Amino acid sequence: MSVDVTYELAGKMTRKTYKSYSRAITSMRKWFEKNDGRAIIYRFNSKPEVIETLCQLPVSAKSETSFYQTRAWRTLRLTVLRESDGLCTYCGSGIQHGSVMHVDHIKPRSKYPHLALDISNLQVLCEDCNFGKMDNESLCSG
Ligand SMILES: [Zn+2]
Repeated sequence: MSVDVTYELAGKMTRKTYKSYSRAITSMRKWFEKNDGRAIIYRFNSKPEVIETLCQLPVSAKSETSFYQTRAWRTLRLTVLRESDGLCTYCGSGIQHGSVMHVDHIKPRSKYPHLALDISNLQVLCEDCNFGKMDNESLCSG
């Protein structure tokens, strides 16, 4: 099923057709990294989707989910949780306080993929601190 995307930059419109939705998303991601415009996705039988920032792009890339399913990541994640006693690096809250714990990449995986499995780049955060961190630093950090 092909997908049409209209890119809008400084009043200029460019229309492109992609073979699949995930290809469209991948290309849009690259486009948004360079351009400060907006894009509209047209899919057969669904409403046009207006995307104005990179953060609004649906995460469709298969690599995104598969990383978190790898044995290497899961093992490392458990190690980090065990070493920190499952306590949040920022506020010291833990599962026993009713918090949901996340293992966070200090340097985002999107920018530092080689540090994705580096234990020194990982920290345990409770959900509140993890989302707080994202607000402060970057809406798109992973
Ligand atoms: Zn916390």
